[in-house]
Amino acid sequence: MKIALDEDYFRSVMFGLQDGLVSTTGLVVGISAGVSDRAIIILAAFVAISVEASSMAAGEYSSEKAVHQLDKRHRHRDDLIIGAILMFFSYLIAGLIPVLPFLFFPVDIARMISVPAALISLFGIGYLKGKIVKDKALRSAAEMFIIGGLATAIGLIVGVLLKV
Ligand SMILES: [Zn+2]
Repeated sequence: MKIALDEDYFRSVMFGLQDGLVSTTGLVVGISAGVSDRAIIILAAFVAISVEASSMAAGEYSSEKAVHQLDKRHRHRDDLIIGAILMFFSYLIAGLIPVLPFLFFPVDIARMISVPAALISLFGIGYLKGKIVKDKALRSAAEMFIIGGLATAIGLIVGVLLKV
């Protein structure tokens, strides 16, 4: 069934994009609250994105495999490897967005660009998602903005609280 195939790939991409944005923004802003060396922030961010994208891809493979094994009526036709690859690149690409400002600007300015860039991206992804699933695009955008924004805010608050 074609629909089931599209659904699983779609979920991988949406999950990867949202998670890549939210967790990397929390990470870089959190680290930059305690570390002023730009090279260390960038290094830590790239290590974290690579590890996390790989881990998410592995998780996607294993969890989707479990779902397929449960699927006795064989409604899932999606390829486990393709799902994992989609997850990897979605996470990687979205994760780079909050890191990019640190490549070009001093830490203080980069942090102030990074957070809005991530929030605008969440809004944009939500909007596209709404268009694709033929739901109200603006409402979908606002929802993604709020959910992702809340998760990002928790990361930022922890980062600020831990800054001694
Ligand atoms: Zn599947």
